[in-house]
Amino acid sequence: MRISQLFLPTLREVPAEAEVISHQLLLRAGFIRKAAAGVYTFLPLAWRVIRKIEQIIREEMDRQGGQEIMMPIIQPAELWQESGRWDVYGPELFRLKDRHGRDFCLGPTHEEIITALVRQEIRSYRQLPQLLYQIQNKYRDERRPRFGLLRGREFIMKDLYSFDRDEAGLEVSYQKMYEAYTRVFTRCGLKFRPVEADSGAIGGNDTHEFMVLADSGEALVVFCPDESCGYAANVERATSPVQRDTVEEETSQPLKLVDTPGMHTVEQVTAYLGLNARRIIKTILYQTEKGVVAALVRGDRDVNEVKLQKVLDVLRLELADAPTVEKITGARVGYAGPVGLQNVRLVADDEVMLLVNAVAGANRDDAHLVNVNPGRDFVPHMVADIRVVRAGDPCPKCGALLRETRGIEVGQIFKLGDKYSRALGATYLDERGQSRPMIMGCYGIGVTRTMAAAVEQNHDEDGIIWPVSIAPFHVVVIPVNHKDEQQMNLAEEIYQELQAGGVEVVLDDRAERAGVKFKDADLVGYPMRITVGNQAVQTGELELRYRATREMQLVSREQIAGHIR
Ligand code: ATP
Ligand code: MG
Ligand code: MG
Ligand code: MG
Repeated sequence: MRISQLFLPTLREVPAEAEVISHQLLLRAGFIRKAAAGVYTFLPLAWRVIRKIEQIIREEMDRQGGQEIMMPIIQPAELWQESGRWDVYGPELFRLKDRHGRDFCLGPTHEEIITALVRQEIRSYRQLPQLLYQIQNKYRDERRPRFGLLRGREFIMKDLYSFDRDEAGLEVSYQKMYEAYTRVFTRCGLKFRPVEADSGAIGGNDTHEFMVLADSGEALVVFCPDESCGYAANVERATSPVQRDTVEEETSQPLKLVDTPGMHTVEQVTAYLGLNARRIIKTILYQTEKGVVAALVRGDRDVNEVKLQKVLDVLRLELADAPTVEKITGARVGYAGPVGLQNVRLVADDEVMLLVNAVAGANRDDAHLVNVNPGRDFVPHMVADIRVVRAGDPCPKCGALLRETRGIEVGQIFKLGDKYSRALGATYLDERGQSRPMIMGCYGIGVTRTMAAAVEQNHDEDGIIWPVSIAPFHVVVIPVNHKDEQQMNLAEEIYQELQAGGVEVVLDDRAERAGVKFKDADLVGYPMRITVGNQAVQTGELELRYRATREMQLVSREQIAGHIR
């Protein structure tokens, strides 16, 4: 490609709206342009990078037996009603109506569509397992689209879904994807870490996030410095989840609203209700993007402001954001202000048991709810024990002191179990002719986010430094003086020769000063630059420079093609 003809509009100025470096550089280097908040056009160089990332992903999915398909972006509300997510997904779901008034949404993810597909077509255990994936635009009306491609409202995702006969099969599929993800991000040239993560609204227990390590990352990751231990977790998950099956079998009492006039502290309410304060752990019930979360601030009797703030930080919430729980779940439990009460018992140091007939704040002044029952009155699997683990705390696996770092979530793998197959009736007949729900997993990679994450991790003050495997082109050939016919001819020759040899090369044939071309080459981030100046014409020695190390070497005209390969 000749740069004089390439659609590559570079900018001298740093665009004012861009807060993070990947956003700034991708705009400046002529890779992307904004169409609307969180919606971008990918210009030729960006599209080449995206296609390379996609190709790496394809190869690794296929290596594990994945089969590529393409599902619709427009999804009917009926399927989302069947799964129960139409009502709980919240404002992130782009909803639309057709001319007949029927409801649809733009797919933020495809569990419903694929489960509905598979339930029609798969009948027997002999047809399982299946690993099906697609690479496609996703739509999420993010509350704060920002940081360019890192948090868009339209973005490209690879999503794979596994269907197995049983948990053991799911374990195999999950491990395959774990390995595939490790290979994908390694091949993309990224420094990353798989971390334990919270499963949030998608449901299911076991999940890992793949985090690209970068200061601009929105996630805080704690990790064990001992490589052989390998413990690492998103801080949201660096906690022990409340055991679902440890709810005590006591007789449930009917939910009751009691007046607690003017009472706000645990001490006041527990004294008033005659409860044992030592068995009380303060909570906040909150809606997050992921659903309702009850954050338990445990272990002591006073929830001070600092502690509460810590929990809110972990949940990334502001006090003012809290809507009523009623609204979200249809549950009858609310909260009084941000702090409610929950009757819980410490089973072990890292395990919390929810009791039946607990106390919670009510979503109105001067009142509390008593006899609150998990499951009946709120969603128990959304309850997480938020014990904030930070750098300096002992590693829960080996006791070494934890460190922390920031990360960008570029991928996530989930064990879904039978959540969707049960809801949508995706069953198969086992060896004995018995009907069973398929056991599912889902696995996402943000393609466009991965591109931005690569820039966050690989840049310097002059511009992008693309990892070779995903670089838009590998080499730029720059004649120093565009008025010098000999230089132009030699550059042209080298360009032709490299291209004929299958090298992805561009020729900077513009009528610009060499300084401008060098600056643009550094900004765009081609891994290698070949400079054709007077010396090249006279001695046949070409200057080859590596973008990453800025190291230069002289290579003879004859050897250049061999050198590049
Ligand atoms: P986040 O926590 O950043 O909101 P998520 O956990 O909601 O992401 P998933 O549902 O796990 O995202 O989707 C799979 C992958 O899709 C993510 O790991 C991420 O790489 C990508 N992704 C999710 N949301 C966005 C977005 N708004 N813009 C770009 N990529 C995204
Ligand atoms: Mg999200
Ligand atoms: Mg996430
Ligand atoms: Mg995720």
